[in-house]
Amino acid sequence: MKVLVTGGLGFIGSHTCVELLEANYEVVIVDNLSNSTIDVIDKIKAITNKTVSFYELDVCDEVELEKVFQKERPEAIIHFAAYKAVGESVEKPILYYENNLISTLKLCKMMQKYHVTKFVFSSSATVYGSPATLPIKEDFPLFTTNPYGTTKLMIEKILKDFVSSQKDISVIILRYFNPIGAHPSGLLGENPKGIPNNLMPYILKVADKELERLHIFGNDYDTKDGTGVRDYIHVVDLAKGHLCALEKTKKEPGIFYYNLGTGCGYSVLDLVKTFERVNGIKIPYQIDHRRPGDVASCYADSTKAYQELGWKAELGIEEMCKDAYHFLLESKR
Ligand code: UDP
Repeated sequence: MKVLVTGGLGFIGSHTCVELLEANYEVVIVDNLSNSTIDVIDKIKAITNKTVSFYELDVCDEVELEKVFQKERPEAIIHFAAYKAVGESVEKPILYYENNLISTLKLCKMMQKYHVTKFVFSSSATVYGSPATLPIKEDFPLFTTNPYGTTKLMIEKILKDFVSSQKDISVIILRYFNPIGAHPSGLLGENPKGIPNNLMPYILKVADKELERLHIFGNDYDTKDGTGVRDYIHVVDLAKGHLCALEKTKKEPGIFYYNLGTGCGYSVLDLVKTFERVNGIKIPYQIDHRRPGDVASCYADSTKAYQELGWKAELGIEEMCKDAYHFLLESKR
């Protein structure tokens, strides 16, 4: 089966392409390189010993996108391409709404025109806002606190209407928790440009001595050690979840929602201490004020994904920390 992967050179997209190729899917990547680099294609090829088709284009560009559909005739789509920085989305909401919504609308149009019935969408746990109880289940109320999150929620709603209007379409919405880690080969990982917003990329810059110390945003939360608790999930586990989702699209039309997390909450200090221990390296840090918009704790109930997709996370926080550091060391070689 041929799968079109938008944003296939990004962090989660590239790991998913590897899993797809290893499971003998044909992969067509569309990516505009806005937050990725072209050399990721060679890394994917090196890991899998397989080739991919690549088109450098913006999914919002309907004319160019249609050429890809005409030529490649994909049978399924996994849609990663999106802007994803929460802070930036507050400063540039229109850019976020335009890019994230229009790209999805164009893909829906192409699905209708070229009879593509299988679609997997990258959503986020951010659609749950600040839930009243934990762990988070898929039927919890949906609420967003920033434009990035709102784009994800709006797209979920658009896809719901789209599915209702078509009889054969199967859409799987995957709500990711906190993906970290890297491919065990050390060839693929997350390496954001500039000062990272997210915890693990920041830890890596400190490990690399590019940044002096980590700033921990608050140690006065109602958590075991006062620092924020999140459900960190290894990116390879997350990538595998997309293959299980694709299998589901082959079985049943409709729209289905799944949390992809481990179900375990770890604090910022848990992650820092584990990183230090498994990699034998010190991560200096200081405690700062809380970051506006952060919740104390957030972790998933992923039972539904296990029951209906047969998916569950296998890798623990130690592997996440080891693989992330291994990627850093390999990328320096
Ligand atoms: N965090 C931190 N320092 C940083 C980045 C993040 O202390 O430089 C904390 C943040 O407050 C939260 C956790 O790490 O408790 C995860 O934050 P991240 O931005 O990685 O993901 P989020 O859950 O906010 O999407």
